[in-house]
Amino acid sequence: MKLHELTIHQLHELLVRKEVTSREVTEALYRRIDEVDEKIMAYLMLTKEEAFRQADEVDRKVIKGEKIGDLAGIPIGLKDILCTKGIRTTCGSKILGNYVPFYDATVVQKLKEREAVFLGKLNMDEFAMGSSTENSGFHITRNPWDLQRIPGGSSGGSAAAVAADECMAALGTDTGGSIRQPAACCGVVGLKPTYGRVSRYGLVAFASSLDQIGPIAKDVEDCAILLNGISGYDPHDSTSVNIEVPDYKQFLVNDVKAIRIGIPDEYFVEGMDPDVERSVKDAIDLLKRLGAEVKAISLPHTPYAVAIYYIICTAEASSNLARYDGVKYGFRSKRYDDLLEMYGRTRAEGFGKEVKRRIILGTYVLSAGYYDAYYRKASQVRTLMRNDFDKAFKEVDVIITPTAPTPAFRLGEKVENPLQMYLSDILTIPVNLTGIPAISIPCGLSREGLPIGLQIMGKHFDEGKIIQVAFTYEQNTEFHQKRPTLI
Ligand code: GLN
Repeated sequence: MKLHELTIHQLHELLVRKEVTSREVTEALYRRIDEVDEKIMAYLMLTKEEAFRQADEVDRKVIKGEKIGDLAGIPIGLKDILCTKGIRTTCGSKILGNYVPFYDATVVQKLKEREAVFLGKLNMDEFAMGSSTENSGFHITRNPWDLQRIPGGSSGGSAAAVAADECMAALGTDTGGSIRQPAACCGVVGLKPTYGRVSRYGLVAFASSLDQIGPIAKDVEDCAILLNGISGYDPHDSTSVNIEVPDYKQFLVNDVKAIRIGIPDEYFVEGMDPDVERSVKDAIDLLKRLGAEVKAISLPHTPYAVAIYYIICTAEASSNLARYDGVKYGFRSKRYDDLLEMYGRTRAEGFGKEVKRRIILGTYVLSAGYYDAYYRKASQVRTLMRNDFDKAFKEVDVIITPTAPTPAFRLGEKVENPLQMYLSDILTIPVNLTGIPAISIPCGLSREGLPIGLQIMGKHFDEGKIIQVAFTYEQNTEFHQKRPTLI
C-alpha cells in the first residue's frame, strides 16, 4: 500500500512502530497533491511550511520514545470555512479573499493540541451555500470518480481530497447536508454530529441554528477518531453542550443484534435513482440478516423540509452576512464616493450570485409583514418535524435512508436551476432542522460506476449508535475500500 493511501488508524500504527515518519507521509501526500490536484482542484491553499514543522515535532517525540496520541502526525485537510490563525481563510468567497484570522477555530485548536498535521485549506461553495462546489468564488472541484461530475457540496473540496488520497481525512461542515452529500458523491464516510456536540467557535457562520462541523474520512474508524478529537463543550460557543463525551472508539463493534432500525417510507422519494434505491434496500437487508430488527416508520412532515430549510437558512444567512460591509473584514470596493456606496459596491462586487440570492430571500422572509407568514410558520413546522423524529425514536434506535436521491450529477447540470440544486439535499436537511447526528457511508456503485451513500441517523448525542451500525455494515462489505481508478 502506498503511503498516501493509508487511513488514520493504519498510519498511527506505523508511526508508533517507527516504520515511517510523519514527515515521510506528509511529503508523500504533497507529492500526491502535485500529481493529481491539477485535475481535481480540491485545495485552495497549501500550508507546507507549517505542516512540516508540525510533522517534525511529532517525529522528534517518537524518536525520544514519547507516547503519541492517535491523531499525532496525521496529515489532514481543513475546509476553508474554519478560521486558522495567521493563515488565509476565504470561506470560498472573494469578499474574504484576503482575510487572515488572528485566532484558530476551536476545532483547529483542538486538533493542534492533538498534534495533527494540516496540509492546507479545501475548496467549498461560497459561504457553504450549494451542493456541488460550483458556487466557489475561486474555482470548481471535480469528482475523482468522474472528472465531468460534481464532488457534491458544499464540502466538495474536503470529500474529493479524501477520495483522491490527497489527505488522510478532512474536516467539513454541514448546514443542510454539506458533509454527508459530498461524502456520498465521492464514496467516503462523512459524519454530521449532534447540534451542540462540537464547538462552532471560529467557524464562519452561515445559518447558526443549523451549522455543524464534522469529519470526512476513509472509514468509520477514522471518523470516530476525529470525532473524539473535535467534540466537547466550549465556553466560546454558547450552543455547545456541556455533557460528557464518550470515547467513540468503544462503539467500533461488529454487532447490530437487537438494534432497532427504522425505515421511513417518505424518504424513498419520487424520481429517486433506481440504483440508489436498490443499493440502500440491499444494505437494509444485510443489516437484517446480521440480526438488526427492521421496521417501517413514518416521518410525515418530510415533504416540507426543503421549503422550511430555505426560509430558515436564508433568514439566518442574511443576518450573519450583514457583517461583510468592507469595513471589518477582507475585501473593499475601490470605487465609491460615500459610505453607503462603499457598502453597496463592496457587497455587489464581493459576493457571488447564489449568496446574493440567499441574502435577498432571507431579507424578504424576515421583513415586517412577511415574518409571520414565512419565518414564524417555518419555525413552527420545524417543531412538528422534531416531534416526528422524537416519536420515531421511541420505537427505533437509528433511522436508515439514502443520503442523496441520485449519485453525483454532471458539472453544469443544475447551475441554472437553483430549485433542482436545492432538491439534492431533500434527504439530508431534516437532520439539520432537528439537530440530530447522521453519518453517510458508501453502500454501492451505480451502473455508471459512481458511489452511492447510505445515511444512518441517530438520537441526539447518540453518535455511538450510528457509528456502531455503520462500522458493522463496513465490516461486512467492501464498498469503503473502493477507490477511484482514473488517476
Ligand atoms: N446544499 C445546502 C445549501 O445549499 C446545504 C449546504 C450546507 O450544508 N452547508 O444550503
